[in-house]
Amino acid sequence: MPEPTPFPSERTVLLTGAASARGIGRATADRLAAQGWSIAILDLDGEAATEAAAQITEARGVSAIGVGADVSDEQSVDRAVGVVETALPPIVGLANLAGISSATTFMETTVAEWDKVFAINMRGTFIVSKRVLTGMLARRVGRIVSVSSISAQRGGGTYSKVAYSASKAAILGFTRALARETGEFGVTVNAVAPGPIDTDIMGGTLSEERKAQMAEGAMLKRIGTREDVAALIGFLLSEDAGHITAATYDINGGLQVS
Ligand code: NAD
Repeated sequence: MPEPTPFPSERTVLLTGAASARGIGRATADRLAAQGWSIAILDLDGEAATEAAAQITEARGVSAIGVGADVSDEQSVDRAVGVVETALPPIVGLANLAGISSATTFMETTVAEWDKVFAINMRGTFIVSKRVLTGMLARRVGRIVSVSSISAQRGGGTYSKVAYSASKAAILGFTRALARETGEFGVTVNAVAPGPIDTDIMGGTLSEERKAQMAEGAMLKRIGTREDVAALIGFLLSEDAGHITAATYDINGGLQVS
């Protein structure tokens, strides 16, 4: 039986889509920094990524860099990951968070919008995972977590519609099939499926009324916070989660039971 590779004490987590100040990725980066990970933020907004990294270094005293990149563009990702690999310890964790919403109804959705949603939410996850896996497979240790959504399970119902739901459902098949290929190399691959969270992706800050509407039917009677999701992603990236792979973790306060 293969022995697991020791979890490196000097290690980097790369988070895509973690520049947005109110986003899930930013909260996850902060939590992982507090746990001693070096932090690499890869985001379309390079300026915000650099600023977030500087704040994390100042607050947590760990190495952190922010790099501007478009996850849907293979060359852009290759360049950005190259920068991270040169500057920081080996990448042991990857959190695929970069994503866009799509609140357009099906009959109004153009092929261009459909392709854009899939290019960022799904193809981006493929491109970044493949690029980062080269090192993980060689070192025989890695943790990949990708963010799906309750929208994939329930068919929307919160904000985004068909294109988004379909792209987030694709993440689930991707996760399971990739986990099968990487398991023998010590790399786990999992997904999380959050319910609604008050971030910029929801088309603006959620009012208390909208939050209450979205929590209707949830067992815990509230929508989640970005910290709730950050804690789950942080666990799945940790050494302790080494026997969990190909799993989808629901985090929705009981709004959806899979
Ligand atoms: P957010 O808008 O705060 O964060 C999304 C980030 O992705 C932003 O920083 C943005 O700049 C970045 N991004 C967008 N396109 C990019 C590209 N082409 N390349 C690189 N970066 C890009 O929203 P969030 O809610 O924190 O979203 C994080 C993830 O969580 C997304 O995948 C989203 O679909 C998922 N999610 C969110 C919710 C929710 O209710 N907020 C629920 C379920 C899943």
